[in-house]
Amino acid sequence: MASIASNLHIVRDKVSQAALKVGRNPEDIQIIAVTKTVDIPQMEEAIAAGITAVGENRVQEITKKYPLLKEKVDWHLIGHLQTNKVKYIIDKVKMIHSLDRFSLVKEISKRAQQQGIVMPVLVQVNVAEEESKFGLKVEEVIPFLKDIVGIKGLKILGLMTMAPFVEDAEEVRYVFRDLRNLAEKITKQAIPGVEMKHLSMGMTNDYEVAVEEGATLIRVGTGIFGQRK
Ligand SMILES: *Cc1c(COP(=O)(O)O)cnc(C)c1O
Repeated sequence: MASIASNLHIVRDKVSQAALKVGRNPEDIQIIAVTKTVDIPQMEEAIAAGITAVGENRVQEITKKYPLLKEKVDWHLIGHLQTNKVKYIIDKVKMIHSLDRFSLVKEISKRAQQQGIVMPVLVQVNVAEEESKFGLKVEEVIPFLKDIVGIKGLKILGLMTMAPFVEDAEEVRYVFRDLRNLAEKITKQAIPGVEMKHLSMGMTNDYEVAVEEGATLIRVGTGIFGQRK
């Protein structure tokens, strides 16, 4: 079995190649190691190999693992977030990638203000309009952002999407391109408190295409840790 360090080396190499191909600086892309189902020793191995951010999609897994690693790594919440669970992660995560409704905005705002922090968040967009996935539709995003102008305790720093799973990642290039185009449109609107600094897009199967289309955060699990149990 390939080691985590050598897997990570391969991912880094491919990210660099994809970035250079389109004239981007590879350093503008951060690899978030997706650690759902991954145990602590493996996570420590990834951290030793240079990983500085991990992504988890379940609150319960963060609350279980956080006390064991704490600030050795930045934690990102990348999965669907139930409103009643915000309180468990608000003091632990560096960024929430899955903002998709007004009730969640209100709860993050309330809990962040209680902690005296401003939580960086990304709006999740269901570009491909898959039934099985969360996120706003493309045309819903700008009205949503205008509705939450002035809200305290969180800062909108970009967009996130998950592309459908396909054999050939070229088939989902349009998903990443649409997300980038939406971010550019949002920037032109100059909505107060909204900054399109990040595009969180690309997973093991499609991160090279996502990087070519402008991803700044890629979320890679299998490509680093191997197949999940
Ligand atoms: C699991 C997961 C990933 C990583 O998937 P891989 O195919 O293992 O790289 C990325 N993003 C989200 C939201 C996930 O749930």
